Amino acid sequence: MPGFEIFSDEERREVNDVLDTGVLFRYGFDAQRNGHWKAKTFEKEFAERVGVPYAHLCSSGTSALVIALAACGIGAGDEVIIPPFTFVASFESVMAVGAIPVFADIDETLCLDPKAVAKAVTERTKAVVPVHMCGAMAQIDALKQLCDEKGLMLVEDACQSVGATFKGQALGTFGKAGCYSFDAVKTITCGEGGGVVTPHEEIYQKIHQFADHGHDHVGNDRGLEGHPIIGLNFRISELNAAVGLAQLRKLDTILEIQRRNKTRIKEAMTGLPGVSFRHLPDPAGDSATFLSFFLPDEDQARECASQLAKAGVGGCPYWYDNNWHYIRSWDHLKNRVFPARQTLEMVNTAPDYANLSLDQSHKVMGRTISMQIMLGWTQQDVDSRIEKIRQVFGA
Ligand SMILES: *Cc1c(COP(=O)(O)O)cnc(C)c1O
Repeated sequence: MPGFEIFSDEERREVNDVLDTGVLFRYGFDAQRNGHWKAKTFEKEFAERVGVPYAHLCSSGTSALVIALAACGIGAGDEVIIPPFTFVASFESVMAVGAIPVFADIDETLCLDPKAVAKAVTERTKAVVPVHMCGAMAQIDALKQLCDEKGLMLVEDACQSVGATFKGQALGTFGKAGCYSFDAVKTITCGEGGGVVTPHEEIYQKIHQFADHGHDHVGNDRGLEGHPIIGLNFRISELNAAVGLAQLRKLDTILEIQRRNKTRIKEAMTGLPGVSFRHLPDPAGDSATFLSFFLPDEDQARECASQLAKAGVGGCPYWYDNNWHYIRSWDHLKNRVFPARQTLEMVNTAPDYANLSLDQSHKVMGRTISMQIMLGWTQQDVDSRIEKIRQVFGA
């Protein structure tokens, strides 16, 4: 699952290029850098890989979301629709630009239900940010159509789904902008890092400017660059970019291993009593970081998760109880524990997060178990895992 499983000489070589020059910074120092532009090279190769003209590498997936929202013009008082099964960065990033997170239910895709999104739209809705969870796609065609019909911005959170596609098109490339994370546990990693892509030149200009104090990046003297907009610093260092560059070149290998391992386990689990699988709108495009499956109800899912753990089948999160990824445990959000005063829009018009009705999501998540698919498994590891799973189900 995470790229760190296969760190090797390639990562070392890229990092050493940077250390040898001493230019740890992605902008400037042209003469000293000996031709090494790790962030820029990553961006060029990543844009080609996902098939969009513009990619920008930044400090994290969370900053990628903030940058994308800001560059798309999402701001104070705008409502942004997000799912309750995601990562805390979804609501953090919306709040960071002064906008208001509005939750809509997920369905058995484990991603936003387009019907629930349609119901959540108000006259203040500005954007929808579907999250392609656990390596695979939301119903991005239906969500895109809805956004087009209602005149909403579509900004994709593909942080967990780099390399995944829907009908051959990379996740993250369907809307105005798409975001990726290259943090420590993602499919490819920079250590810490994130990326934003867009097909639109004017949005790209805002993306790279906003991520670097509003610099226009024109000319070759940073001190003389203009500032067309107010920005922040979400820059990545060349060292992190160097790691990511080596990892990006391994993405196809990573996907191949994950898909092979996942297919074997999924086939072995097909037909086990009570087990059904996450609905994948395009199974061929799954990046296969996880195998997510359902039990008939919450009690059976809890029992199964605990039996799997007891049997030594590790890496099977029960998201319903998870602190990071599911709204049930987000007491800080429900109690609105902000470090500082919030905007008037947030104070006066945000939903009561402690009392949302997300029954459809709870029903799905209560039944869901996900299994991490690791890169480092040998054939024997997979065989013995399958054997243990079969024992848990008495098969
Ligand atoms: C990891 C993740 C992020 C944020 O990424 P960081 O690089 O850790 O900031 C955002 N959204 C989702 C769905 C994620 O899984």
